[in-house]
Amino acid sequence: MLDEDATNLSIDLPDMDSYWMPFTGNRYFKDNPRVIHRAEGMYCWSHDGRKLLDMVAGLWCCNAGHCDPRIVSAIQEQAADLDYAMAFQLGHPKAFELASKLTNIAPEGIDHAFFVNSGSEAVDTAMKMVLAYHRIKGEGQRIRFIGRERGYHGVGFGGISVGGMSPNRKMFGAMLPGVDHLSHTHNLEHNAFSRGLPSWGEHLADELENIIALHDPSTIAGVIIEPIAGSAGVLLPPKGYLEKIREICTKHGIMLIFDEVICAFGRTGDAFASSRFNVIPDIITTAKGLTSGTVPMGAVLTRNDIYDTFMTGPESAIEFFHGYTYSGHPLAAAAGCATLDAYIEDDMFNRALSLEEKFADALHSLKGEPHVIDIRSLGLIGAVELTPIEGQPTARAINIFRDCYDKGLIIRTTGDTIAFSPPLIVEEQQIEETIEIIKASLREA
Ligand code: PLP
Repeated sequence: MLDEDATNLSIDLPDMDSYWMPFTGNRYFKDNPRVIHRAEGMYCWSHDGRKLLDMVAGLWCCNAGHCDPRIVSAIQEQAADLDYAMAFQLGHPKAFELASKLTNIAPEGIDHAFFVNSGSEAVDTAMKMVLAYHRIKGEGQRIRFIGRERGYHGVGFGGISVGGMSPNRKMFGAMLPGVDHLSHTHNLEHNAFSRGLPSWGEHLADELENIIALHDPSTIAGVIIEPIAGSAGVLLPPKGYLEKIREICTKHGIMLIFDEVICAFGRTGDAFASSRFNVIPDIITTAKGLTSGTVPMGAVLTRNDIYDTFMTGPESAIEFFHGYTYSGHPLAAAAGCATLDAYIEDDMFNRALSLEEKFADALHSLKGEPHVIDIRSLGLIGAVELTPIEGQPTARAINIFRDCYDKGLIIRTTGDTIAFSPPLIVEEQQIEETIEIIKASLREA
C-alpha cells in the first residue's frame, strides 16, 4: 500500500554491497530491498514511501512504539551531556538510576541489575554468574546447564549451547560441554487452538528430574528457559509447567534463569512474565523493551542473596571478573530510564492486559482460514501456525510475510509460524486491520 501523502518519504537506496546482513538472505534482499528509513508510533516508512503498520514492534523491542518523543529527547540530552564514562571503577548517575527503576518493577526479591548490551550478552552473563556463584559457595562441581528444545537464547556460545534451534547450532562446532535439553512443550495434537495457557503438558516438566538424576543433582548449575518461547514461534507454557520447574530447581539447589528478553516490559500485560505467571526465578535476563529498542542494552536481574554471595573477600577486590566496555552506557541508561518512565506514565502494561481478550479474539477469528493449523496468544504476543508447503518448510510463512509487506503490514515469521508482538500502544482498529490483511493474504496464498 503506497502512502499517497508520503511520496516525499521515499529515499534513494544506498549502495548495499558491503553490508553483510544478520539472519537475512543477503542475495535475495539486495535484489528485493525492503529498507526502512523512518518510524513513528505504530508505523515505519520504507525507501519507496510505503507506510507500514509494525505489528512486531521492530523485533519484539519497541514496546513504547517508535520514536516516543520522551525517549528521543532523553537520548539527545544525554548525548550532549555525557557521551561515555569508563564502565569499570567509575560510574555515572543514569546507570544507578536505571538499576533502581528496573528493580522497582521487578518481581519481589529480585533486587540487583547487571547491565549488558544485548539479550545474547545477558544470557552468557547469567550463565557465568551462575557458575561463579556455585564456586564461591564451595560447589564448583556444579558446571552443567539444562536448556530446552526450541529455546532461543541469542547467539553467543553460551546461548546457542543451551538454545534448542538446530539451524543456529549446527554450523558452530561442539559448543559448551555439559549441556542437556528438556523437550519442548509444543504439541498440536493436544494443544491446538487453546486460548491462554494450554492444559496439556505439565508432565513434561518431570523430565527435568530425569535429566538431573542422570548427571546427579550436585553437578547441575542452572536451568534456563523462556517463560514464553518467542523466536521459536510463541510457545506458551502449559498450566502448572513453570511452577513444577521452579519446584524441582529449588529442591536441588539449582539456579533457575528465566530468559525474558522478549516477554518482559508489558508483553504479557505485566512488567515481567515471571510476575504474570507468579513463578519467580533466581535470575531474569532482559534486553529489547528495556530501552524500547532505541539504544542497545540488556540487563541481568538477580536475587539479593546471589549478589550478597559475591560481596565477600577483600573490600577493594573485584568480585565478578566480567563486564563490557559499554555496560550501562550513558545513552542506553538514559533511554532505559525514559522508557520505564513512559511505560509507567501511560500505564502501558495494563493497557496491554486490557487488550489481551480483544487481541486473542481477533487472532482466533483466523481459525478456519486456509492453511491455519494453530493459533496461540497471551497479553500482546501471538502466533498463527500454518501448514508447510510440501518439501519447502518455512516457504509458506515467508510468502505471507512478503505479501503482507506489499499490503502495508510488517509481521515476523519463524518456521511456518507468523508471530505478532505489537507495540503496547496498538489501537483496536490496527489489530482489526492486521487481521483483514492476514486473511486476504492467506486466501491468496
Ligand atoms: N533471548 C531471547 C529469549 C530472545 O528472544 C533473544 C532475541 O530475540 C535473545 C535472547 C538474544 O537477544 P539479542 O538479539 O539482543 O542478542
